[in-house]
Amino acid sequence: MPTQIAGRRGGAVGAKIEYRDGHWIVPDHPIIPFIEGDGTGPDIWRASAKVFDAAVAKTSGGKRSIVWHEVLAGEKSFNQNGNWLPDETLGMIREHRIAIKGPLTTPVGGGIRSLNVALRQMLDLYACIRPVRYIAGVPAPVKQPGKLDVVIFRENIEDVYAGIEYKAESPEADAVIEFLQRRFGAKIREKSAIGIKPMSKFGSQRLVVKAIQHALKRKRPSVTLVHKGNIMKFTEGGFRDWGYEIAKERFGDQTVTEAEGGKRKEDAGKLVIKDRIADAMFQQLVLRPDEYSVIAAPNLNGDYLSDAAAAQVGGLGLAPGGNVGDGYAVYEATHGTAPKYAGQDKVNPSSVILSGVMMFEEMGWDEVARAIVRGLEGAIASKHVTYDLARQMPGATEVSTSAFADAIIQHLA
Ligand code: NAP
Repeated sequence: MPTQIAGRRGGAVGAKIEYRDGHWIVPDHPIIPFIEGDGTGPDIWRASAKVFDAAVAKTSGGKRSIVWHEVLAGEKSFNQNGNWLPDETLGMIREHRIAIKGPLTTPVGGGIRSLNVALRQMLDLYACIRPVRYIAGVPAPVKQPGKLDVVIFRENIEDVYAGIEYKAESPEADAVIEFLQRRFGAKIREKSAIGIKPMSKFGSQRLVVKAIQHALKRKRPSVTLVHKGNIMKFTEGGFRDWGYEIAKERFGDQTVTEAEGGKRKEDAGKLVIKDRIADAMFQQLVLRPDEYSVIAAPNLNGDYLSDAAAAQVGGLGLAPGGNVGDGYAVYEATHGTAPKYAGQDKVNPSSVILSGVMMFEEMGWDEVARAIVRGLEGAIASKHVTYDLARQMPGATEVSTSAFADAIIQHLA
């Protein structure tokens, strides 16, 4: 029997989002757990939820609504129940499958579970997805920021971020060094710290599959595998080879590699699969950004690339993110809690709002996503923006977080 939570407006009764055979089944009044976040989180969440509700109501003519259900994490949770991350929160997110969160304080000192790590492990959220595109009017450091429009799929579980790392001179590091020297004659300087870089065919291929599925669904022209396979032949090189392999095996009739591209008539219009060495890719994104569309990368490369790309179109303040697995997805702001502005109704809510856009796209509510993007573009074009943009935009009027949300709502279309 599904949990039912009464909606807060007009008695709508919420139902759970389900996932069957690789597809989302989204009711008209889905229950979506949210974490408002610490610091500026409550200001941002209030503004974002207002925009989301207005966009859903407008695009559905009032037929649909989101039944928001607050779950606790971070400082707010700690202050209420002494627990930074209650099991109940993880359970609710698992039960309802799609959730959204504001930024959380990372407590100083050990022994406290990170929400992101806990969710990633529990729900196997193996793809970190970061769309990066320019919004007209936002001050950007390059001459033609509008040429960049990419979606980066970063592998979220493996690679040097797997957490298998040993401190220099620890018994673990010394034992690994001794083993590698004795068994394989590896040359490793004494007293080195050791980190392990596991990358599997399974982990690489499921990430590449997600990127290809996205590109096909959204009619994107290419998927680029970014790797450092010229140096790390078996890990990063494996990522590239396994990526090409799965593209051919599962999507052979819909894809063509760059090497084969354009040679045969029947390949016209197919999704192009290509690869680039990571360092070259950083240059390419600056010099020829319009040649790239969907990007699939291992964990470390993807982390660097996401922030570099976001900076190119005007910074991380507006960058959204999603951690997605099979049948689970958690969306979040990519910035932190900006505690010095807490409670001042001042900061920019766009990162959470654009994370919501990603969420609505995943739910198949594309019209809501489009309306919000147009609203945001309209608000920025009207130059009624929060302080962070106002200080860089000549002639702009600084408005509060809530007034910026109202400006977005006015421009929903
Ligand atoms: P931060 O909160 O991202 O803030 C750094 C600066 O970025 C702010 O002072 C502000 O710059 C600007 N900024 C951030 N969010 C903004 C917004 N919404 N609108 C406008 N400007 C914004 O980074 P931090 O101070 O290093 O971290 C604070 C706390 O957040 C820490 O506890 C950290 O661990 C946590 N954190 C959480 C997440 C997460 O939950 N996803 C991510 C990163 C950090 P100006 O001062 O120049 O205006």
